[in-house]
Amino acid sequence: MDSYDLSDDERELAGMVREFADEVVAPRAYEADRTHTLPMDVVAQMGAMGLFGLPFPEEYGGQGGDYFALCLAIEGLGRVDQSIAITLEAGVSLGAMPVFRFGNEEQKQRLLPDLLTGNALAGFGLTEPEAGSDAGATRTTARLDGGEWVVNGSKQFITNSGTEITRFVTVTAVTGETAEGRKEISTIIVPNGTPGFTVEPAYDKVGWHASDTHPLTFQDARVPEANLLGERGRGFANFLHILDEGRIAIAALATGAGEGCLEAAVDYAQKRTVFGDALSTRQGIQFMLARMQQRVHTARLAWQHAARLRDAGKPFKTEAAIAKLTASDAAMDNARDATQIFGGNGFMNEYPVARHYRDSKILEIGEGTSEVQLLVIARALGVA
Ligand SMILES: Cc1cc2nc3c(=O)[nH]c(=O)nc-3n(C[C@H](O)[C@H](O)[C@H](O)COP(=O)(O)OP(=O)(O)OC[C@H]3O[C@@H](n4cnc5c(N)ncnc54)[C@H](O)[C@@H]3O)c2cc1C
Repeated sequence: MDSYDLSDDERELAGMVREFADEVVAPRAYEADRTHTLPMDVVAQMGAMGLFGLPFPEEYGGQGGDYFALCLAIEGLGRVDQSIAITLEAGVSLGAMPVFRFGNEEQKQRLLPDLLTGNALAGFGLTEPEAGSDAGATRTTARLDGGEWVVNGSKQFITNSGTEITRFVTVTAVTGETAEGRKEISTIIVPNGTPGFTVEPAYDKVGWHASDTHPLTFQDARVPEANLLGERGRGFANFLHILDEGRIAIAALATGAGEGCLEAAVDYAQKRTVFGDALSTRQGIQFMLARMQQRVHTARLAWQHAARLRDAGKPFKTEAAIAKLTASDAAMDNARDATQIFGGNGFMNEYPVARHYRDSKILEIGEGTSEVQLLVIARALGVA
């Protein structure tokens, strides 16, 4: 069901991703989830399709599209496999976008082409054991010594940080003190393989099993002074801007997940016979399915509105927060209802709704928890 005016190109992109999702991604999803393995050949195919370059100019190897197009692709993948969808979301919006937005020309020319073609991935290291929602509480430090940044500290839950094609992680670090006595936070690019930078073993997560997530530690990890990304002291503000955009993309992913649950539940309810009739003949089930459709439609409108604002260069912070809150709730509620409609089968991992049930919870936590979205919205109301 369409929600917004889509151009012919957007319709074509959505159709192409849907076909790829059904034919290539979906058949691999169960095994990837079971073995906690990110299928790198699928990532490579996404690269060849140009998905990692969607919102970037052609001069850096991008497709010359916009954020809306990226979100369409993420929604299409989230419908069948959230791990694959988050790999694209994080690869673009958290990996490449900070370089594109805040990098100097030399950094962009050197780092972007491989990221935008899916030949390389990069991580976004903001969260720390003592700094999550309160991301400004960063304890990781970077001090200049002999023309190099010396990085010390740790990051946790960093997506795409340890794949075989991960090139680097951008990390926020305290680089000094401001004139007002506050922490000066900057962003430093730390290449994987830098002595003193350790990608710790992957987490044992509740969901998103095939997505790559690691804790990172830095012990006197030395990188050139030129690895500063963006202006010194602007690291925190820059990362918050990146998160605002990322929330739209997570909302699109969540919309896809909610849609995947709805489609599966409609199909199952029509095929499953109970007490002599199809499950779908029961009004209680029909109302559940109708509610699921309501949630998907509303979530899609919310992310599409925020993405259009963003692409038009208009303020979108509050709309992005509303979209993420609405869509992550929709995904979680639809996953719960779809699992219920599947009965005992819904508790079996071989059914995609079971995977969505496990996967969807993180949508209410990552890139700003639901409570953080509420804070953003309350601030816009002037009451927080
Ligand atoms: C699978 C996964 C992938 C991730 N990928 C990345 C990544 O690539 N890069 C990265 O930097 N981070 C990443 N994260 C981290 C994620 O963004 C954080 O987990 C999230 O921001 C919450 O931070 P926290 O875990 O420290 O929770 P906390 O901040 O400790 O929050 C705990 C609870 O308290 C609530 N809370 C906090 N403050 C308030 C308040 N003021 N008012 C009311 N309630 C509040 C929160 O909403 C939450 O419910 C990832 C996390 C996961 C699980």
